[in-house]
Amino acid sequence: MLAALVDLVLPPRCGGCHLAGSWLCDSCRRRIRRLEEPLCRRCGAELESARAGCGCRARFRSLTRLRSAVAYEGPVEAAVHRFKYQGWRRLAGPLAQLLAERLVIEGLAAGTVVPVPLHPDRHRQRGFNQAELLARELQQRLALREAPGRLVRIRPTIPQVGNDRLRRWENVRDAFAWRGPALDGRPLMVLDDVATTGATLEACASALKAAGAGHVTGVTVARVHL
Ligand SMILES: [Zn+2]
Ligand SMILES: [Zn+2]
Repeated sequence: MLAALVDLVLPPRCGGCHLAGSWLCDSCRRRIRRLEEPLCRRCGAELESARAGCGCRARFRSLTRLRSAVAYEGPVEAAVHRFKYQGWRRLAGPLAQLLAERLVIEGLAAGTVVPVPLHPDRHRQRGFNQAELLARELQQRLALREAPGRLVRIRPTIPQVGNDRLRRWENVRDAFAWRGPALDGRPLMVLDDVATTGATLEACASALKAAGAGHVTGVTVARVHL
């Protein structure tokens, strides 16, 4: 609770290096690594060469594609950690800005965004859902439409951190459901802070497709290099 209030009472400090003055300092901004081409056209992973496939087609049945802004390393890794686990909510702004810039480049600046939900227990513990805060910040920067409903967790899952690849897919399968009107072929973006295997986003996409969604694009601020 105390941690959740920290940024409401303290002046800005860099989420990357703790320097006072702004939530993300110039030096950290310069060290952020944008994902570099060639990228997999489906899952957005960085590839060794443009011709190398990444083998993701079998894993992503519901998710049409996945796009992330930056690599999960250095100042971004530190900032995401402070944002999620130390309650620096104000970092939602600069982190969403990175994603907004990417979505403009990808031609995705006018869609409908649905945040990945936290399980209610974790939501209570943390005091906020990081994906929801990012979605709100994104809506202030781009001409996005409000989603007509929301995703919910319909069974508890254990945190993905520490799960190996296979267990990440098992852990989140059928864990989500759509609460809202039928989606009638509407394309959607499902938003999270970080993508590792993409298993959570795929499980969310599966719930959205079951509710009638058209193409579902996963979007995240950062991407873990596997
Ligand atoms: Zn810094
Ligand atoms: Zn791929």
